[in-house]
Amino acid sequence: MSLKGKTAIITGSTSGIGLGIAKGFANKGINIVLNGLGDKNDIKKLCAEIENMEVKCIYHNADMTKPDEITAMIEVAVEAFGSIDILVNNAGIQHVSPIEDFPPEKWNEIIAINMSSAFHTTRAAIPYMKKQGWGRIINIASAHGLVASPFKSAYVTAKHGLLGFNKTVALEVAQDNITSNAICPGYVLTPLVEKQIPDTAKARGISEEEVKRDVLLAAQWTKKFVSIEEIAGTALFLCSDYAQNITGAHISIDGGWTAA
Ligand code: NAD
Repeated sequence: MSLKGKTAIITGSTSGIGLGIAKGFANKGINIVLNGLGDKNDIKKLCAEIENMEVKCIYHNADMTKPDEITAMIEVAVEAFGSIDILVNNAGIQHVSPIEDFPPEKWNEIIAINMSSAFHTTRAAIPYMKKQGWGRIINIASAHGLVASPFKSAYVTAKHGLLGFNKTVALEVAQDNITSNAICPGYVLTPLVEKQIPDTAKARGISEEEVKRDVLLAAQWTKKFVSIEEIAGTALFLCSDYAQNITGAHISIDGGWTAA
């Protein structure tokens, strides 16, 4: 079945992995609802770029810490496109700090954006997917949904929780032709990761190149960063008919990190 003419909401799609998925989807004829933070004019340009691929694109600025705004985004998308076919829960932030110094407000923000927002989008989208008898939910988790690293307590907790949510959703909608799956990337060079490099270099007294090789890629056996295109391609595969019996699963794209 062609995905042309379907509609996808991708949270946190003004940057990085989410934007890459939006472009990859648009390239297959899927209409896009962009979401995320950023400068209004820059976002307008992103929408125009996506519309150049002969699909429709709208932007909604729902803040993923605000359940009411999330529900409003789903309703706006349905008004614009008639329904929602694909939901990608991708928005995410990071904060790195020992537990005893971890600011409680950062903990709450990470749990809200990286985990709870997926509950709010999914609960609002499922009735539309059930009504039309087709849906694809993709949760962008992380290798940190499967294993921990020190100083990332909130992130690791949120991503483990997201994998539990993913499995629960899969069971609840299994007979409605709706699948729910997670993608667990290793390190991808996006703004989220690039921001951590200078600080880590300073903290450890090593060069930025050494941070990439000896810290970020230390557990990635391929010694390569994961590309955004690999994640977008996997998301497209999960939307395809080949994946109709894949549900409640996670696909690791982590260069062997979690195999070790
Ligand atoms: P990014 O910083 O490039 O993008 C994050 C997106 O989330 C942006 O569009 C940002 O505006 C949006 N966002 C942040 N706070 C928001 C809020 N309150 N409301 C709405 N949108 C908000 O980061 P990325 O690397 O592309 O990360 C995307 C997802 O991939 C995240 O869930 C992240 O945890 C996950 N991930 C990233 C990596 C990596 O190495 N980059 C690895 C594994 C998993």
